Amino acid sequence: MNNSSFNFSNSFLNRRKFIKNSVTTVGAVLAAPLLSNASGFKKNGDTITVKQIMDMFISEVPGGRLAETVDTLKSGSPDSIVTGIVTTMFATIQVVRKAVDLGANFIIAHEPTFYNHVDDTKWLENDEVYKYKAALLKQHQIVVWRNHDYIHRLIPDGVTIGVLEQLGWRQYADEKVLNVVTVPTVSLKGLVSHAKERLNIEMVRYIGDPLQSVSRLVLIPGAAGLNRHVEAIEKYKPDVLLVGEMSEWETAEYVRDARASGQKVALVVLGHIASEEPGSEYMLNWLKEKVPSVKATHIPCGNSLSFM
Ligand SMILES: [Zn+2]
Repeated sequence: MNNSSFNFSNSFLNRRKFIKNSVTTVGAVLAAPLLSNASGFKKNGDTITVKQIMDMFISEVPGGRLAETVDTLKSGSPDSIVTGIVTTMFATIQVVRKAVDLGANFIIAHEPTFYNHVDDTKWLENDEVYKYKAALLKQHQIVVWRNHDYIHRLIPDGVTIGVLEQLGWRQYADEKVLNVVTVPTVSLKGLVSHAKERLNIEMVRYIGDPLQSVSRLVLIPGAAGLNRHVEAIEKYKPDVLLVGEMSEWETAEYVRDARASGQKVALVVLGHIASEEPGSEYMLNWLKEKVPSVKATHIPCGNSLSFM
């Protein structure tokens, strides 16, 4: 998914024309019952604002609103009336452009917009890429909300459920710890083929013997880090640890030594986006159920990295 050539000025003009026309035709009508517990917000007749959708989601999260969270607005206003919603892993420039084309002004992304966990932009103030992206968002009045901490705090975790369902492993997951999955015995190679096919992955990196039999898995989507990876191996003694991403100098070296010391554990690195993308589909389904009158679309941001 590489769109390297792009005619900026023309496409911008076309988009602006498109959104001008589409805003009047895309309805944002909210069913009345959904507003019942959204007290204290500005109600705009038959429309719904960004804040109302955020509050509706957060009200379903055990523990409710977090005092400290990265799930903040990265651009735009909470009072914006929503014309359409896009769910995605990363609000890349390409995803923003597609949202504009769809007449959608609200992007719900799982990961940061500006390249670091807390979306600190101070250090980027004079950066050309940052300035371009921030201007694009502003020009089209796009609101970006990161929904990371909240969706992971759902019980069960919305991302984990999405991934398990896409892998067809929901029925194999431990009811108490969904990340622990016992599948019918298969070779490591067979397991990887299955994951690649179900999650649309071109290539994975792994440590292990392709022919070794595996059944007990620990699945940790995203980038949980060395400590959680090692804790999971020690606690659950899986045949395979499947992760989104890891640091080569940390988890990979631990697994290599674990095998050299006699353990059987294998490691499969799925890729961060592929490992959590089903969470964006989970979000899409939530929106379709809870805010059915607003058009919502899942736009996969694709992998950042290619293989050659
Ligand atoms: Zn995540």
